[in-house]
Amino acid sequence: MLIVMERTANPEQVSRVCDEIKKMGMTPHPMAGEDRTAIGVTGNNGRTDSDRLKVLAGVREVIHVTKPYKLADREYHPEDTLVRVGDITIGGPEFMVMAGPCSVESRDQCFAIAERVAKAGARVFRGGAFKPRTSPYSFQGLGHEGLSILAQVKEQFNLLIVTEAVDTDTVDQVADCADILQVGARNMQNYSLLKKVGRTRKPVLLKRGMSATLQELLMAAEYVLAEGNERVILCERGVRTFAEHTRNTLDLSAVPYVKRHSHLPIIADPSHGTGRRDQVLPLSRAAIAVGADGLLVEVHHEPGRALSDGFQAITPDVFDQLMDEMRRLAPVLNRTIV
Ligand code: PEP
Ligand code: MN
Repeated sequence: MLIVMERTANPEQVSRVCDEIKKMGMTPHPMAGEDRTAIGVTGNNGRTDSDRLKVLAGVREVIHVTKPYKLADREYHPEDTLVRVGDITIGGPEFMVMAGPCSVESRDQCFAIAERVAKAGARVFRGGAFKPRTSPYSFQGLGHEGLSILAQVKEQFNLLIVTEAVDTDTVDQVADCADILQVGARNMQNYSLLKKVGRTRKPVLLKRGMSATLQELLMAAEYVLAEGNERVILCERGVRTFAEHTRNTLDLSAVPYVKRHSHLPIIADPSHGTGRRDQVLPLSRAAIAVGADGLLVEVHHEPGRALSDGFQAITPDVFDQLMDEMRRLAPVLNRTIV
């Protein structure tokens, strides 16, 4: 913390602030500048009650130097974190594409989609067995049966599995099947869930909440990291804005911001980020260009019959085109696609 005094502050006011800092159990370090004094503060563990200092006579500003997160901060960990899952690495030069349906609907549906996305070059299959739906009357997912279908997809197509854990009760069962545990936008600030997935030791795909700031996203990641789980992948999936032409506004500026302030990998979800299948391809191009470490894309072989998010699912043919374009863009951006 740094206390900046007014230019007009007198020595008594400076020493009054120093006394208050000592009373708070910290150490003041007054630094007389050419036209004003600043007081550095050490010995504060985490955030302190700066209001006690702000109200004192002669104080102009209190600046917090320590951030409310640490393990997620690039200052603390300057190198990029590489998240290793099975035989893949997220956050390295390889641009990682995760694709599949919104929901696991049946074995046939998953096999039809998995075959095509695997052939096109996706390394991770996505699909929700437990679905967090806005309406309680919408399809809620196949639950345990869905997990067993995902296990068969993994076996048959040599794809890794990312699937969502919606609550603390089912985390362990989901973790038995998933290679990567997804925490959805609606649960980004479900702290008991974050702690529990942190304790599973499975990599975690943490989606940005629909109205979350990037500080809040990094603090949510901090919960997982604080449990000793270092394998966290962030996901920009769009935020709610006034725009009506899309379901959400995919905030691709999140990618360079996160890259600058954190060492964690970040991927983009142009499907939920826009809610429109015609936007998925153009925004995938933008995502790789802006430095995202990969994509999470919804693909359905019969989007018109999908039980959830059909309007944003692209077909396997369009996914082929997407992969082809990513392959052509990757070398320009120093990325590889296997
Ligand atoms: C999903 O990935 O299917 C999903 C529900 O995403 P989000 O949490 O971003 O809405
Ligand atoms: Mn979905």
